[in-house]
Amino acid sequence: MKNIAFIFGTRPEVIKLAPVILELKKYPEKYKVLIINTEQQKELSNQTLSYFGLKSDYNLDAMRDNQTLCGVQIRIMKALDEVFNKENIDAAIVQGDTMTVLCGALTSFYNKIPVLHVEAGLRSYNKFEPFPEEGIRQMVSRIADINFAPTEANKEALLKENIRRDTIHVVGNTVIDALSCLTKNVVEASRNFFISKGISDKNLVLITVHRRENHGTRLDNIIKAITYLAKKYSDFTFVIPVHPNPNVKSKIESAFSTYKNVKLLPPLEYPNLVYLMKHAHLILSDSGGIQEEAPAFGCPVVVLRYETERKEGIDAGVSVLAGADYNKIILESEKILSKDIKQTRLKVKNPYGDGLSACRIEKLIDKL
Ligand code: UDP
Repeated sequence: MKNIAFIFGTRPEVIKLAPVILELKKYPEKYKVLIINTEQQKELSNQTLSYFGLKSDYNLDAMRDNQTLCGVQIRIMKALDEVFNKENIDAAIVQGDTMTVLCGALTSFYNKIPVLHVEAGLRSYNKFEPFPEEGIRQMVSRIADINFAPTEANKEALLKENIRRDTIHVVGNTVIDALSCLTKNVVEASRNFFISKGISDKNLVLITVHRRENHGTRLDNIIKAITYLAKKYSDFTFVIPVHPNPNVKSKIESAFSTYKNVKLLPPLEYPNLVYLMKHAHLILSDSGGIQEEAPAFGCPVVVLRYETERKEGIDAGVSVLAGADYNKIILESEKILSKDIKQTRLKVKNPYGDGLSACRIEKLIDKL
C-alpha cells in the first residue's frame, strides 16, 4: 500500500487531477489517497472538487487579499511542510504550473519524496508569458521524478532540456478525461440553467479572461474589442463567466453591465461551462484549459494571448492567437461570426488526448 498525496489549489488543477484521483481510488488495496487543497483559489477549487464528488483531507486556506507571489509561496510552503511532517507520504502528484505546483514539488523534493508531474513539458519559452507559470513549470521539471507529458511535442521539449528520457511518459492530457466524466445528460441538464438566465444555445459567444498578463491596459483593449463585437453582432449573446480576481471583475462589470446581449455570470459549474463550449459559435479566451477542451467540440477559439504553450490547437486550426490586440481580436472573431456555425465547426481529432490518460497514469504509477 502506497500513500499518494495529490496537491492542488486552483480550479484547473482540480479538473485535471480529479480523473487521476478517481482512478487511483478504484484500487484501495494499492493506494491510500491523500487530498491536499492549498486553496490558492478557495471558492473555485472547492466548487469544482465537490462537483467530482471529492473531499480534501487538508484545506490549507493559503490565500490572502493582495498577497504578493512571495507571500503566497511562503504561506503555502509553510502549510505544506506541516502536512508533510504529519503524514507518511510515499509520492506526491502535482499538476500544471501554478504556485501550488512549485510549492508541492519543492516540499516533496526537500523531503526526498518522489515528485510526479502531470502535464509536464508545456513551454512558451518566454518566462513572462504566461507569468509566473512558464518559470514555474521549467523549475518543476528540474526536480520531478516522473513526467507525465500530454503530447509528443511536450516530451521533445523536456528532452531538449536534458530531462532523463526514462522519466518521461506521453499519456495525453487528463482534461479530456474530465470531459469524458460528464455524461450527456449532465451536460444537457445545463440547458435549463441557461434558459433560466435567458440564454439560449443559439448564436453564443463564450468569453473568459483572467490571466495576470492581461490585467491593466491589455484588459482595456480586450474589453473595447468585445464592445465592438457585441454592438455589431447584436443577434449574438456574449456570455462571460466573470473570474473573481478583482483586477478583472470590476472592469468587466463596469464595462458591460448595461449591454443586453452581454451576459455576465459568476464562475460556472464545470458542466455548465462545458455546455457553453459545446454550443458556442466562437470562444474568446486566455484560458489554458479551454484551449485544450474546445477541439473536443470543434469550436474555434480566438486566444487572448500573445504566446501559447498549447500549439497543437493552432496547428489543428482550432485556435488562433490574437493577444490583446484590438484589431486582431475583431478580425479573427469576424472571420468566424460572419459565417454559419455549420461552416466554422471543425471536425478534428483532439490533439490533447483521448480520455484515457488517468488510466495510463495509474498503470505507470503501479509499475514504477
Ligand atoms: N471553467 C469552469 N467554469 C468557468 C470557467 C472555466 O469550470 O466558469 C473550467 C474550464 O472548462 C477549464 C478550466 O476551468 O477546464 C480552466 O480554468 P482557468 O481558465 O481558470 O485556468 P487555466 O486553464 O488558464 O489555467
